[in-house]
This record gives sequence, C-alpha cells and structure tokens, in this order.
Amino acid sequence: MGEIKCVGILTSGGDAPGMNAAIRAITRAAIYNNLSVKGIYRGYRGLITDEIQEFKTENVSNIIQRGGTILKTARCKEFTTPEGRAIAYENMKKEGIDALVIIGGDGSLTGARIFAQEYDVPCIGLPGTIDNDLYGTDTTIGYDTALNTILDAIDKIRDTATSHERLFFVEVMGRDAGFLALNGAIASGSEAAIIPEFSTEVDQLEEFIKNGFRKSKNSSIVLVAESPITGGAMHFAERVKKEYPQYDVRVSILGHLQRGGSPTAHDRIIASRMGAASIDALMEGQRNVMIGINHDEIVYVPFTKAIKNDKPIKPELVNVLRELSI
Ligand code: ADP
Repeated sequence: MGEIKCVGILTSGGDAPGMNAAIRAITRAAIYNNLSVKGIYRGYRGLITDEIQEFKTENVSNIIQRGGTILKTARCKEFTTPEGRAIAYENMKKEGIDALVIIGGDGSLTGARIFAQEYDVPCIGLPGTIDNDLYGTDTTIGYDTALNTILDAIDKIRDTATSHERLFFVEVMGRDAGFLALNGAIASGSEAAIIPEFSTEVDQLEEFIKNGFRKSKNSSIVLVAESPITGGAMHFAERVKKEYPQYDVRVSILGHLQRGGSPTAHDRIIASRMGAASIDALMEGQRNVMIGINHDEIVYVPFTKAIKNDKPIKPELVNVLRELSI
C-alpha cells in the first residue's frame, strides 16, 4: 500500500455506547487532515457486500450523544474464511479505500489482524466493547456507560431487596471478564461479585456465605458476571435455594439494556481522543495496532498483545469490595 488518501471506518461485533462518538471523531479528524472517508455498514459484512458510503462531516453531525452505531454492526462468518476476505479486499480496492479503522472487541481486532497480514492493508483498531477486556488500555469505549447503567438498575433493585429482606443475584454482562461485575459491585455498594477470573480457583458463593453476609444486613445483592465460567445468576440462585433454603432468593438479569443509552462524558471523551489518534497513527505509518489509553496517555498496542493477553483484575479491587461489604 502506498500513500493513504481514503480511510474506511467500520463497527463490528457487540455494539457499545460511544461507538458513534468514535465514528464522528475518525471522520472529522480524517477530513481535517485532508483524507477522504468511507463508512462501511454492518461491520465486515459491508466490506463483502459492498455497503459503503462516502462520509462528509455532516454525515456525523448530531451523533456524539447517541448510543448504538449509525454504521450498524454485525457478526460476519464469511470474513473468517480466506474467500470472504478476498472479496472484502477486492471491494476495498474498488472503493479506493487505502486503510481501515475498526471499532470493536477482541473478535473484530482478530479479524483485522488476519486481514492486515494477508493483504498489507494498514489497519488501526479502537477498543469498542462494554466488557473492558482488551489488554493494554485502561478502559474501552462503552465500559463506563454500561457501568453507570448497571448502577442505575442496582440502586432500584436495592430498594425492593431491602423492603423484602431478600438476597438478589444480579447478572451483568462482561463475557469472560469480571470488570463490570466487580466495579459495579464496588460502586453500587453490593455485597459481593462472582467473576470468571476466580471461578475456577475458589467457590465464591461458599466464601460469601461463610463470611456471614447477613451479620449486619437484612438484604444482599450479589453481582454475577454472565459467563459459562461462572454459570450465571440462575445457577447461583438454584444452589442457594437448595443449600440454604432459609434465604429468600431472587434473580435479576440485566441483559441488553446494558448495551444501550447515551454515552457518558467519559466514553464520549475517550472515543473522541482515540478516534483522532487513529488518524494520527495512520499518518505516522502505524499499522496493526489498537489505540489505547494508559495513564491518560494515548498508546499504540500491537493487535497480538491486545487480543492474546488477558487483562488482569487488580486484587486491590477484590479486597476493597470484601472490606467494605461487611
Ligand atoms: P467482538 O468484536 O465484539 O469481540 P465477535 O467476536 O463476534 O465480536 O467478532 C466480530 C466479527 O469479527 C466476527 O463476526 C468476524 O466477522 C470477525 N472475526 C472474529 N474472529 C475472526 C477471525 N479469527 N478471523 C477473521 N475474522 C474474525
């Protein structure tokens, strides 16, 4: 690939609040730097089906505050095959797109890494996922908004849990990462969080019950990360009903509402910074990197590092929750 004149943008995989703010930032930063921009619809699928449109600054007006993604998102099986990626590349060439900025989670960045290796296409990733599970960045676009949505819900659940003196298991998203559950529990004053990172090492329910969770309280809220590793909130509710029938147990699964809503100021700001940084990165000749923010500085994280490494949970957070929930 020679000089970059036109940048293609796509959003892929699970949607996250703030993706629109990122689309706006990439578009405006590219145009500011005299590049042209094309919006690719429905993630990698749009590259294959050629659903591509030129974007001007007005295409991204009035979207910074909107959840979801104006480019739509999708999961595209065809892109996981060499044949599918060959069609994607042909369409890119036909459309005159010289580089891609991909906003998505680890699956989307894995696709970008493979595509960039096969076709020598400069690809820059932006971490767009509510799960915060990408290594090398302190936070991801959408995580803060999802966390605040969880808090709103738990504050309401707390009212009914206290009135009825119940034990609530609240299931939150996060896939194989416990960031939403753990930080959601700390910020909402919940009693415990059951997270995948520790599910194979300790019986977190046993520990919670053994610690005498009802010593000073008449209700309790336990956040459970939705994951095959934890087994989900229903699994724990069933266990408690069987093993501790004295407790009045309820389950609340927050589900897809965690993905929606207007992005918080924090998510809008990081999406704007990362979006602008993706164009700087392309102009500096960077490729195959995810834009991250580390200690409030923009960093470039090689795709392989961002995807392959598990982002560790700080033991300090686990201790804070344990200490403050007595
Ligand atoms: P997320 O980006 O939210 O983690 P997915 O894991 O569903 O979401 O991935 C989104 C899309 O990225 C997939 O539908 C597929 O098109 C592409 N993708 C994921 N893994 C690969 C892969 N190994 N090779 C090529 N493309 C992939």
